Amino acid sequence: MKFITELGLEVRDLAFGAHRIPSRIARRVSRALQTARAPTVRADEGPVELETAEDRLWAIICPSLDEYRAYVSLNASLLERRDALERAIVPQAADYFAVDAYCSVCRRTRRLHVDILFGERGAPNWRERLVCGHCKLPNRIRAVYDFLDSTVQPGPNAAIYVMEQSTPFFRALSRRYAHVIGSEHLGNGVPLGARNRWGIRNEDLTRLTLDSGSVDVIVATDVLEHVPNYGAALAECFRSLKEGGSLIVTVPFVLESPTTLVRARVRDDASIEYCLPPEYHGDPLHSRGALCYYHFGWDFLDHLREAGFSGVCLRLYWSFRRGYLGGMQLMITAQKA
Ligand SMILES: [Zn+2]
Repeated sequence: MKFITELGLEVRDLAFGAHRIPSRIARRVSRALQTARAPTVRADEGPVELETAEDRLWAIICPSLDEYRAYVSLNASLLERRDALERAIVPQAADYFAVDAYCSVCRRTRRLHVDILFGERGAPNWRERLVCGHCKLPNRIRAVYDFLDSTVQPGPNAAIYVMEQSTPFFRALSRRYAHVIGSEHLGNGVPLGARNRWGIRNEDLTRLTLDSGSVDVIVATDVLEHVPNYGAALAECFRSLKEGGSLIVTVPFVLESPTTLVRARVRDDASIEYCLPPEYHGDPLHSRGALCYYHFGWDFLDHLREAGFSGVCLRLYWSFRRGYLGGMQLMITAQKA
């Protein structure tokens, strides 16, 4: 906690949705991490047998909880050895450390930064850490970018809609692709589909202003858990995608849970009922953060199928060499057939 106190940050600034924290905070964290003398591990010296072959990196696909359980049981020994490696590289006596690994966004070896401030029992929050010192993107977001680039392979004229705009991820996508549309939820002050004075586009995910069948790819990274009526958002994604278009989603997901955990709900009178202690995630535009309504379970994949999507699956990935650590990291992908 010493590190965070020195930076004058609030704990919630960094606990969740880390890639969406305001960029002035991200810059301070990044500067502090880069000037600190952190213990550093080299990923290219890691055991080869624990790596996934490059052409299999996104191929561990689980359409259902049963298939996930089968994968875990078939690969118990491999998963255990990966877990042991992760525990071994976390220094005992430091608040933070770094891993030199390949960043798929920068397309070269970079220093990836990890702090140990919010992990359980001294383990890092791998999902939101391993932040590249150059592109500023953490584990989860670098993986989404990697999957998009290597597997979805949008063409030069592809229209990509990403449900964020004030983030390093939006900027990285915009550098790579010519037609990236981003938006934030700005509320009633700006008409839907219009931009505020800083050029940020306002969208309500349950009533997108995108034309039907107008985009090739939609990317939603830790957004849908903040949308009480996420079913309407999924229907809007389906409507907006072209035939053959792809959806890539990350959300807080409980791998062992068949059903979604409802943390909060909106009552008929529009007030909020907290079913569990309120959890706020980083939000670039609101210092309080964004309320998390759901920790999703496997029924989320069923909701995607009900919205019309096909090929709905959860992809598990792990690679020390690419800085994708944290046991079972996942993203959910689907297509509009
Ligand atoms: Zn990078």
